[in-house]
Amino acid sequence: MKEKEYEFWLDEIARKIIEKFPKEKTIHLNGGLSIRGPQHIGRFRSEILIQDSVKKIIEQKYKRKVIQYLTLYDMDGQKIKGVKKGFPNDKEKQQKYLGVSLFNIPDPFGCCKNWQEHFWKDFGEYFKNFDLDIKIVKTSEFYKMPETKKIVKSILKNRKKVVELVNRFRARSPWPKDYIPVNPICEKCLSINDTDATGFDLEKYTVDYVCNKCGHKGTTSLENAKLNWRLEWIAIWKVLDIEFEPYGKDHAAAGGSRETCGIFSKELLDREPPYGIWCEWVSLKMKGKDLGQMTASGFVGITPKQWLEFAYPEILKYMYIGTRPHTAMTIDLDKISNYYDDYYKAEKVYFNKENLNTKREEHNIKRAFELSQIGSVKKSKIQLNYEFLSQITQIIKGQNKTERTIELLKKLKQLDHDPDRSEREKIEKLLNYTNNWIKEYTSDSFKIEFLETVPDDIINELTKEQKDALGKFAEFLKEDRKEEEVVNEMKKITKEINIRPEKFFNAAYLVLFGKPQGPRLVPLIQSLDKDFVVKRFLLET
Ligand SMILES: [Zn+2]
Ligand SMILES: [Zn+2]
Repeated sequence: MKEKEYEFWLDEIARKIIEKFPKEKTIHLNGGLSIRGPQHIGRFRSEILIQDSVKKIIEQKYKRKVIQYLTLYDMDGQKIKGVKKGFPNDKEKQQKYLGVSLFNIPDPFGCCKNWQEHFWKDFGEYFKNFDLDIKIVKTSEFYKMPETKKIVKSILKNRKKVVELVNRFRARSPWPKDYIPVNPICEKCLSINDTDATGFDLEKYTVDYVCNKCGHKGTTSLENAKLNWRLEWIAIWKVLDIEFEPYGKDHAAAGGSRETCGIFSKELLDREPPYGIWCEWVSLKMKGKDLGQMTASGFVGITPKQWLEFAYPEILKYMYIGTRPHTAMTIDLDKISNYYDDYYKAEKVYFNKENLNTKREEHNIKRAFELSQIGSVKKSKIQLNYEFLSQITQIIKGQNKTERTIELLKKLKQLDHDPDRSEREKIEKLLNYTNNWIKEYTSDSFKIEFLETVPDDIINELTKEQKDALGKFAEFLKEDRKEEEVVNEMKKITKEINIRPEKFFNAAYLVLFGKPQGPRLVPLIQSLDKDFVVKRFLLET
């Protein structure tokens, strides 16, 4: 009873799947992608990670076998946005590949077999880093499967009934009574978006068509044709025996595609549709700029490969798993340090080192943490502040960076023991991550660039009080000082000189960086060369 009271949202989904399909020995989960451009981390939310968590829960709690599929709609035709982005300076190619199936378009960068494979690379090849076990099904192969062929045949055989049923939901633009709901690939120009089927032969398993793009009339195997997408979706459910598939907000409306597909599945294929939930979009903010929703065909987003250049996979997993699916999300790359802090907090809650206001909240955070792990939950002793490390990585240059960082972390009491090998590796990795983050992914305000010398105009701009405060501070810093001593001394000086703390900080940042703001001052000073700091605050260099 208590258990149910605190049911985590993903536990609830798993329970509902089992309740809907109590007799299934193997549970099949699905997600879907059309690779119209770079595949971004937004896709992980509704197409990958919800399924991955549900898989773990069903396996552990309900002891059923679970297969997670990801359907790649590579028969789908490319849209205008995609060809424009892929071939930006080539009008001829834009025209040539418009409406052509994704597996039939060449790689615009020339390094892979085709368009789809190129944009798949930075996404699918990193699944193992996120601890994912997913079976890929491409629609170009799906249409060759005997089970699929049976369905295509039955849909074409009963097409009067199919058209009638579909038209109940297409009041504004009904299909003609003799409509054939498949699109073959034109053998001449390769377009799949511009063909109309004009006849078929189920014995020979062929379809006749006209192409409205190039004018070609021909006959091709039905293996080279795709069903209208709603019919395609229900065929996939049936053939792969899908019990659960989340979907994007665009399919969610009442009377929308998901609901109608549920009806089609029952009436046309005599199959209960999978359980599903709808999922909100994910937007991206980078370098302070709001880029809006991540979109593959608009080439907006960052890939899993890029994510792994600056953060643990667990951080992304935790963000998605810890956020309910109907909540719109924005991933702001300037806030990676906050995302780390959220994760560290969850880790503390999980190991009962921190309590939260309510048991429910604790339960949810613990579940989210557990489900975000790579492999089993491991106890970690260190939690290092990401933003602080991003400063260290800019300040400590040259040899033995990891060792010198460890020394500094100990001096600053961010580390209270000698790290073991795995912790050392962790520190090294974080230094690497933060280094990449600073270089590629974050706003300039996180970049630390010291002035070579303090220019006269900055010196002239400082008030007498500011100069006096810096001078006193410099004298104090000539000795080795502990962090709390430095903090107390700053308070003392600002009081004695009667200067607002803010003015004092402005002065310190101005002489270091030439701008009035910067990273947290005390740890920064502690991590810098003492002579440099003293001379600088005495305005000697
Ligand atoms: Zn390539
Ligand atoms: Zn054609």
